[in-house]
Amino acid sequence: MTGFDPRSPIDLHTHSNVSDGTQSPAAVVRSAAEAGLGTIALTDHDTWEGWDAAGAAAKSRGLSFIPGVEFSTQVDGASVHVLGYLVDRQHEELGTTMRNVRESRLTRAERMVEAIGMDFPISWSEVLAESEDGATIGRPHIADALVRRGIVADRNEAFAGILHWQGGYYQPHHAPHPVAAIRLIKEAGGVSVLAHPGSRGRGGLRDGVFERLVEAGLDGVEIYHRENDEFNRVLLHDLAREWDLIVTGSSDYHGLGKPNRLGENTTEPEQLQRIIDRGSGTAPQFAERSISPPQ
Ligand code: AMP
Ligand code: FE
Ligand code: FE
Ligand code: ZN
Repeated sequence: MTGFDPRSPIDLHTHSNVSDGTQSPAAVVRSAAEAGLGTIALTDHDTWEGWDAAGAAAKSRGLSFIPGVEFSTQVDGASVHVLGYLVDRQHEELGTTMRNVRESRLTRAERMVEAIGMDFPISWSEVLAESEDGATIGRPHIADALVRRGIVADRNEAFAGILHWQGGYYQPHHAPHPVAAIRLIKEAGGVSVLAHPGSRGRGGLRDGVFERLVEAGLDGVEIYHRENDEFNRVLLHDLAREWDLIVTGSSDYHGLGKPNRLGENTTEPEQLQRIIDRGSGTAPQFAERSISPPQ
């Protein structure tokens, strides 16, 4: 029988060290199996490089695997994240756009480290040493270098101070408007879900921006996420009903890089089925399942 197991928990938002998580893609999947999940998506920032390793691990562990990315976008300087599931890796424009974002992230991090290095003893090579070759670089890797130097205790302390967007060293990077990202995801046969819309920085989503995203083809919203408070969840449920959007819930697991636990929020099977029905760029990978014959 094919399809994901609707009785086991579904977590559709995780990160590996191909971006700013702390575990390899295979290790993320192993942890997901240990956490009792039945279906997992890998959604590294601006890259799909972890898919093959995660997919192979999922196969051997008996999990279903949903390939995804978390696309960095921007509205008036505010960061907005768009999850793209089941996109086609052959789609050139999507690949090029994500590569440009990754390159801009790299030069932006280098500029930030140069400024931080005026006040604290850290260098660019130390930041690079905290990341895998080719990984999507972000502030978490700078945080790890600060931790190794003993300047801060953990990533969280780094984000609360030195790396905070008002911390004095923050630099933006280039990223497309979410309307462009949603269109690209759609063109690439994917399904777009607005990630943690209640997170700080959501300022960019006021003033009719949400409606513009829906008109551009936004498929869903990630409502069950620790960064959406109750107030935002109620608002988002209203919007989801109004626009008939897919509703997801996920952990946004980053390994040891964040307190988020695998499966702390999950997605209903009916909602995952809607994603699968709509996606055509890359097929989901279902675990082998047998059903016991009727007695
Ligand atoms: P950047 O994309 O380089 O601006 O950095 C933002 C990334 O840092 C997000 O993807 C988060 O996963 C991560 N992040 C944000 N706040 C924290 C925090 N307090 N602790 C650990 N990671 C964080
Ligand atoms: Fe992240
Ligand atoms: Fe995000
Ligand atoms: Zn994320």
